[in-house]
Amino acid sequence: MGQVLHNDVKFVAGVGEARARLLERELGIRTVGDLLNHLPFRYIDRTRIYPIAEVTEAAQLTYVQIRARILHVAYIGEGRKKRFTVTAQDGSGRVELVWFQGIKWIEKKIEVGREYLIFGRPAFYRGVLQLAHPELETMEQALSRKAESGMQGIYPSTERLSAALGTKGMYRIICNAWALLRERIEEPLPASLREQYGLIDLHEAYYNIHFPQSAQLLQQAQYRLKFDELLGIQLGIQSRRTARMARQNGFLFPKVGERFNTFYNELLPFPLTGAQKRVIKEIRQDTVTGYQMNRLLQGDVGSGKTLVALISMLLAVDNGFQACIMAPTEILARQHFASFQRMLQGLPIRVAILTGASKAKERRTALEGIASGDIDILVGTHALIEDRVQFQNLGFVVIDEQHRFGVEQRARLWTKNQQPPHILVMTATPIPRTLAMTLYGDLDVSVIDELPPGRRPIQTFHYTDAARLRLWGFLKKQIKLGRQVYVVYPLIQESEAMDYKDLTDGYEAISRDFPLPEYVTAICHGKMKPADKEESMRQFKEGEAHILVATSVIEVGVDVPNATVMVIESAERFGLSQLHQLRGRVGRGGEQSYCILMSGEKLSRESRARLEAMCETTDGFRLAELDLKLRGAGDVNGTLQSGMAFDLKIANPTRDVQILTVTREAAASVLEADPALARPEHQGLKVLRERFTEHHDIDFSQIS
Ligand code: ADP
Ligand code: MG
Repeated sequence: MGQVLHNDVKFVAGVGEARARLLERELGIRTVGDLLNHLPFRYIDRTRIYPIAEVTEAAQLTYVQIRARILHVAYIGEGRKKRFTVTAQDGSGRVELVWFQGIKWIEKKIEVGREYLIFGRPAFYRGVLQLAHPELETMEQALSRKAESGMQGIYPSTERLSAALGTKGMYRIICNAWALLRERIEEPLPASLREQYGLIDLHEAYYNIHFPQSAQLLQQAQYRLKFDELLGIQLGIQSRRTARMARQNGFLFPKVGERFNTFYNELLPFPLTGAQKRVIKEIRQDTVTGYQMNRLLQGDVGSGKTLVALISMLLAVDNGFQACIMAPTEILARQHFASFQRMLQGLPIRVAILTGASKAKERRTALEGIASGDIDILVGTHALIEDRVQFQNLGFVVIDEQHRFGVEQRARLWTKNQQPPHILVMTATPIPRTLAMTLYGDLDVSVIDELPPGRRPIQTFHYTDAARLRLWGFLKKQIKLGRQVYVVYPLIQESEAMDYKDLTDGYEAISRDFPLPEYVTAICHGKMKPADKEESMRQFKEGEAHILVATSVIEVGVDVPNATVMVIESAERFGLSQLHQLRGRVGRGGEQSYCILMSGEKLSRESRARLEAMCETTDGFRLAELDLKLRGAGDVNGTLQSGMAFDLKIANPTRDVQILTVTREAAASVLEADPALARPEHQGLKVLRERFTEHHDIDFSQIS
C-alpha cells in the first residue's frame, strides 16, 4: 500500500490528537490504513424517511431517519442526572429526543417550530418512541447534501468513542481519510487469479465497501475482501501442513506397553464403543508415523471423549513421555483428576493436578514432579501454560472443550518443547472439517458418532412460570426416586449484577420450597471461593445435595450420572449450543432424564424456534446446523469465533462457506505451482499469507 496509508491517523481532517488517542485506545486504529480497514458492519439507507407511526417496537428497526418538527423542549432532573428532552412530531405521531451529555451544545442548535431530519436508534420507553443522542440536521442542510447511492456505512464503535465521534462523525473521517489517497491501493492478487474468480480490484473494493456506488458493487466489494482474508488463511494452513509434513519431527510411540494393556484389558469400567475404538486406533496410527499429530476430536456431549483422551495419554506414558490435559474450568479439571485417579488405581502411573486455585503444596508437587519427570500425567486449567510449568519430556497434549481457549493459549502449550508434542483437541461443537481447519489451523479430524449403549434419549420440555408448581412437584418426585437435579441460571457480563440476583433469589426460593432435612440444596457460581465451589460440587457429586443451583459454569463437562433433571431458567437467553451442552449434563446414567426449559411468556421468534428445536431433537450435529440456519451469525458462531485463530474483519467462515471452498482450491493451485510463493507475481500473496497466519512455530523457508 502507498505511503499515505502509513501516516498517523491524527493528520486526517476531523481527527486530531485527542480523537487519535481515542481511536487507538478503543479500536487499535493508528494509521490511515488502519482507519480504511475499519469496515462498516452494516449500511443504512439515508434516502429513506420513516413516518413516526411506522417506527414501532414490532418493526425491530435498528436505525431510523425521521423528519419532524420540534414542539417543545424541557430540562429534567438535576446535576449529573440532568437530561434535555425534545418533543417533535410529524403528521403521524410523536417522538421524544433525549440528551444526557453535551446539553449546552445541543440546546443552542435546536429551534422550536423548525423541521429537522433526525437520525438515531429507536428505543421505547413506556410505549413512547425515544431516540437518545440522535443526529440532527435542518431540512435545508439535509437537502443540500450531495446525493450518493443513499447507502451509508455504520461503523463498529465503542461507547467511549461514540460519545466523541458519532455515526456521522466516523463516516466523515473515513471520507476524509479516503480523500488523502493519492495513488491506488496496491493490488496483491495476480491478474489471472482475479480473472478466474471474477474479483474486482482491491482499490475498487475498498472504495465500495466504504461508499457503495450500488448494491451490486457493494456485494462485489464484500466478496473481494472476504476472498482475500480466507485466501490468506488457506495459504497459511496449506503451507503449514506442507512444512509439518516435511519436518518428520513427531515423537514416536511404537510401543503398546504395560499401562495401556493393563488398563485396556483389566481396568476399563465398560466396553468401549466402536467409535471410541476407532479414534484410539487413529491416534495410534498417527503416533508411529514420525509426523507430529494435530488432531481434532469431535464428539457429542456425553459420547465419552475423556476416556479416549486417557487411553491416548497412557500410550504416551508407556513410551516414556509425559502427557497433560488442559480443561477450561477448575471444576472440570478437578473432575478429570478425580476420575483418572480412580480409574488408574493400581497402575504404576503418577497423576498430578495444577490449577489457578492450587494451594502451595499441590502446586509444588505438580511443578517439581513435572520438571523432574516423577509425574506422568498433569491435569489442569490455564495454569498449565504458565512459564514456570516446565515439563521434563512432554509428548502428548490434550485440550478439552477446545473452543473455550484462545489460540494464543493453545499455541503456548505446544511451544513448551523443542520438539512439538502430539496434540489432541476435543470439542462437542460439531463443525465440518474445512471449517474446523479454517478456524483452528491445520489439523486432522476424528469423530465419535456413537453414544455409549443404554442411553435413553433425554426428554425435553418447555414451560413458563405458570407451570412452576407442577415443576416443583415433578422435581420432588425425582428426588424421592433418589435422583438429583440441576437448576441453571444464565450469567452474562452485561447484566451480571442482575443475573446474580436472579440466581441467589432462585436459590433462596428453592431452599424454602425444598426444606431441609428432606431436601438439600447446594449452590455454585463464579463469585464463590474456589474451596466453597469445590465443597458444593463434592456434596452434589457424592449425592449429599439433591439440588445444585448454578450458573452456566457447569455447562462444560461436569459428570454426575445420577443427575436426571436439568432445569434451565431464562432458557431463551441461552444460545442453542449452550443449551445443548447444558442438557448434556444429564442422561449420563441408565435412568430416563429430563431437560426443562423455563422461559417468560413473551418470546422473540428466534428464541421460540431455539426452544422448539431443543424439544424436538437431541442430535448435536442437527442443532448446530439449525443454529447456523436460524441466526447465521448465531451462537455457534460466537463460540467458534471466540476461539478462532485469525483476526478476520469481514469474512465469517461459518457463513461464507462458498468463498471458503473456492479459496481453498485457489490456494492449492497457487501453492502447487509455486510452493514458496517466490515468483514476482506472488509477492502480494506472500504478504497476504503472512497477515493471516499464526506465527508460533512456522518457518516457511523450509518449504520448497
Ligand atoms: P464427553 O464426550 O461429553 O466429554 P464424557 O467423557 O464425560 O463425555 O463421558 C460421559 C459419560 O459416559 C461418563 O460418565 C463416562 O464414564 C461414560 N462413558 C464413556 N465411555 C463409555 C462407554 N464406552 N460405555 C459406557 N459409558 C461410557
Ligand atoms: Mg467432556
